[in-house]
Amino acid sequence: MASTAAISQLRRYFLQEQELGVSELVLGRKPVIANPGRNGALARYQKQISGCTKCPLSKTRTNFVFGDGDPRADMVFVGEAPGHEEDLQGKPFVGAAGQLLTKIIEAIKLDRSQVYICNILKCRPPGNRNPEPREIELCEPYLIRQLELIKPKVICALGTFAAQTLLKSATPISKLRGQVHYYHDIKLVPTFHPAALLRNPAWKRQTWEDVQLVRKIYDQERADG
Ligand code: SF4
Repeated sequence: MASTAAISQLRRYFLQEQELGVSELVLGRKPVIANPGRNGALARYQKQISGCTKCPLSKTRTNFVFGDGDPRADMVFVGEAPGHEEDLQGKPFVGAAGQLLTKIIEAIKLDRSQVYICNILKCRPPGNRNPEPREIELCEPYLIRQLELIKPKVICALGTFAAQTLLKSATPISKLRGQVHYYHDIKLVPTFHPAALLRNPAWKRQTWEDVQLVRKIYDQERADG
């Protein structure tokens, strides 16, 4: 018979899962948790903020672009902001740069569905202009909460804006890349943005080295649990 302590422990566990959004438990041959908590919590958070009007980009966007991929991913890619295609489709990295990012992810033996991809800004700056400091300031709390819910083991920051924003640094991406930094206790490796790689194919070798490092951290952190 289960002890009172074990029952209390189980009760605490189920309450925590419920808070995270778990709605169903299936016993037997299927996985015990059918609706992982982080999935439900992330989807709820997306719904909660998708009508954001905190900055003027809300007036010019077609779609709010929250993010895409596995809500429990151990690897997260963070870019700058949605572009034209992303704004139209409501998904990050679906244009030409997105196709290159897909190839980069596949080159480190992962699939897009196994990682999570998002941006610092959730709405497209008109004409793909650079994000403004006030827009970043207003939008970054959403990214912080997103990462708190996903709990990745490694972040790859794509490009100057993502790297400098996440690291609160003015150092050029050419100097930040290739090294392990930290973002709220999560290991972070910056590399070039895929759109920059399309303009400067000579940077592909350094990007390859950077993503190899990201993969190495991912493997190490997963092995450590
Ligand atoms: S960019 Fe961010 S802060 Fe601005 S409206 Fe979109 S979600 Fe809100």
